[in-house]
Amino acid sequence: MNRRAQFLEVLGIPTEWVPRERADAQAEAAPEAAVAQAAMPVAEVTVAEVAAVVAEPAVPVPAPVAPPVSRAPVAPPLVPAGPEPGLAQAGREAAIASMEWPALDAAVASCTACGLCQGRTNTVFAVGDRQAEWMLVGEAPGENEDQQGEPFVGQAGKLLDNMLGSLGLARGRNVFIANVLKCRPPGNRNPEPEEVAQCEPFLRRQIALVKPRVIVVLGRFAAQSLLRTTTPIGKLRGTVHSYEGIPVVVTYHPAYLLRTLTDKARAWEDLCLAREVHDRAGAGA
Ligand code: SF4
Repeated sequence: MNRRAQFLEVLGIPTEWVPRERADAQAEAAPEAAVAQAAMPVAEVTVAEVAAVVAEPAVPVPAPVAPPVSRAPVAPPLVPAGPEPGLAQAGREAAIASMEWPALDAAVASCTACGLCQGRTNTVFAVGDRQAEWMLVGEAPGENEDQQGEPFVGQAGKLLDNMLGSLGLARGRNVFIANVLKCRPPGNRNPEPEEVAQCEPFLRRQIALVKPRVIVVLGRFAAQSLLRTTTPIGKLRGTVHSYEGIPVVVTYHPAYLLRTLTDKARAWEDLCLAREVHDRAGAGA
């Protein structure tokens, strides 16, 4: 029995029918080969060999023809790509620059433009008179400000109120107080440049809407952010700077003054300079 017949027998197909002509031809073709074949030892047939034969197609199957490659142009993505990040930022800044107070209020309250939105309790928009002649700008909300949603509360806020009182001013009366950042950095860490870049358009719009006669910047960070400089605060004090055409006077942050009483006299000098600048600007108005 040849190997094919053995496989068929293992499969339970003992008889293989072949066409008459092919059988005759096989018989005439090589009787010696048939004898030799019969004389060969019969090899054991394994299950694996059977499986291989079953898997083998009985009739040679032509190789599958690969479908023709489509020459059609690649379809555009369903969601069009957004604008370049720089363009998006420019568009956002332009939108903020045209907002009136209610829209600006709402935009800050719902802002998620930087990671600080994740840890805040409240955004801290600002406090005070929106037609004030004086504008004070600090760094960012601290823990108390984050809780209450108002800038400069707590001990530093009390000192600031006293400083305003020395100028004949009061919170909410001819004074508008805001911060560079509207959300609290965790652990009161220094703000990151990217956070400042995202938040500064709000402050810029606040300044444009208030149109103060003078801006008093409180502390190194706010001064360097607003004036776009790395000059130390000691060198920024005592000089009148300019922001969008509005005079700027730099002094120490009240929280710093609480720790460094010796610099209170310098802060008083700064406030006197700011008073002078304010009066001068009023005289020219
Ligand atoms: S810090 Fe400013 S930019 Fe960042 S989430 Fe708050 S409001 Fe938006």
